[in-house]
Amino acid sequence: MTYESWGRNSPTLRRSCTPDSLNSEVMAKGSFLPYGNGRSYGDSCHNKDGRLIDMRDANRILSFDEGSGVLTCEAGTLLSDILAHVIPRGFFLPVTPGTRFVTVGGAIANDVHGKNHHVRGTFGAHVESLVLLRSDRGLLTCSPSENSDLFAATIGGMGLTGLITRAKIRLMRVGSADVRQRTLRFDGIDDYFTRCAEFDDMHEYAVAWIDQLAKGRRLGRGLLLGADHPSERSQPSRPASGPKLSIPFVPPVNLVNRATLKVFNELFFRKERAGEHWRTVSWQSYFYPLDSIGRWNRLYGPRGLFQHQSVYPEMNGHDTTVRLMECAQVHGHASFLTVLKRFGAHRSPGLFSFPRPGFTLTLDFANQGADTVKLLEALDDIVIAAGGAVNPYKDARMSAATFEASFPDWRALEVHRDCAMISDFWKRTAMVLPRQTARMAALAAAV
Ligand SMILES: Cc1cc2nc3c(=O)[nH]c(=O)nc-3n(C[C@H](O)[C@H](O)[C@H](O)COP(=O)(O)OP(=O)(O)OC[C@H]3O[C@@H](n4cnc5c(N)ncnc54)[C@H](O)[C@@H]3O)c2cc1C
Repeated sequence: MTYESWGRNSPTLRRSCTPDSLNSEVMAKGSFLPYGNGRSYGDSCHNKDGRLIDMRDANRILSFDEGSGVLTCEAGTLLSDILAHVIPRGFFLPVTPGTRFVTVGGAIANDVHGKNHHVRGTFGAHVESLVLLRSDRGLLTCSPSENSDLFAATIGGMGLTGLITRAKIRLMRVGSADVRQRTLRFDGIDDYFTRCAEFDDMHEYAVAWIDQLAKGRRLGRGLLLGADHPSERSQPSRPASGPKLSIPFVPPVNLVNRATLKVFNELFFRKERAGEHWRTVSWQSYFYPLDSIGRWNRLYGPRGLFQHQSVYPEMNGHDTTVRLMECAQVHGHASFLTVLKRFGAHRSPGLFSFPRPGFTLTLDFANQGADTVKLLEALDDIVIAAGGAVNPYKDARMSAATFEASFPDWRALEVHRDCAMISDFWKRTAMVLPRQTARMAALAAAV
């Protein structure tokens, strides 16, 4: 078995074990990290000097109560399996990322967000309880009322606080999984900023696709997509299914280049009529357009891709967005998928979650070596200067300084880290920073 991250930009790993081979004594003697389905883009799901705990066979749905919408499952259960089980019963995930091929454990450990963050916050806000295996304390039930500090540290804790073995999550009742979509084609970034608050106020879901290659007056043109589930009960237009097509091998070169992107962006923008219109869209197309092509990450060739996701305060949202997009253009890089969204004010129950109020911009770049890393560092600088943060579970190369500026309270997670758990990301960032601040050392000395 080999293990990659989705960006295919860190080494492929081979050493793994299954959760049923573990107990606290075994864990205490080794170095481990849970591995869900490898949909994180960089090295936060890797531990090259230790073993990955492969969760994919721990995938049983244990119970579903249609009265309360509460589902209990093993942590390796994929969101796609939950959807197949609950959609025919009139339920949907309250929060879903842009792929359904992630595990429940991975969704909790990264406290993932979806297109409705402004309404329902993060995935962690819908977790009733979880069972955690630790090397020092064995199996523990954690919830907002039981082992609550460990519960908060585990939501968004990137697998560092122990192994989540099972979880109880609250699902959302919907008339249909399909949605009524409102599309607004906008010709420049100013139009997005004029209309985004109204879309958030009116719709459960809201997100914008941006043509990152458009310049001048058209800079930041794109499509704003609002959507809602209908309240009347109806079955969705298409049943749950896997990808229709899969990329069978890694081509020798990157196929997602500037020329192909320019054509793709123009067609994608023009396929929508100017102005605003409504239509009913299948849940697969609205929530998971990329899932229709299996292993699409292989199209980036042997060197893979980097994703850069940042969040920055609303106050300077317009100017920061423009600076980030212009920076990518000046560096001569084209982003295949550029997504802009406004996070809401919901506080995550997680200690270490990425979402915070403001705008979040996601850019995907083919890995062209040192030039791409230089661009990503320039993007980091813009984000940090704006008072923002860079997403750790999309990252494979941010500096320790960028990490600390993004998560100044990271030491609170280190306190709860199970010493049997470590990731390559944590070693590369947190572990090269002083464990104590000067203030903490002074306080300790004073006691
Ligand atoms: C196409 C695509 C679209 C995406 N869209 C979004 C999006 O809209 N919003 C968003 O937030 N993210 C998004 N992501 C990122 C993805 O949702 C997260 O990285 C997710 O956490 C991956 O889950 P996984 O099961 O693949 O876990 P992995 O990537 O394998 O692991 C993720 C983390 O969880 C930990 N972990 C896994 N299982 C357990 C467990 N049982 N116990 C404890 N820790 C565990 C791992 O150690 C690791 O730190 C997207 C990714 C892709 C490829």
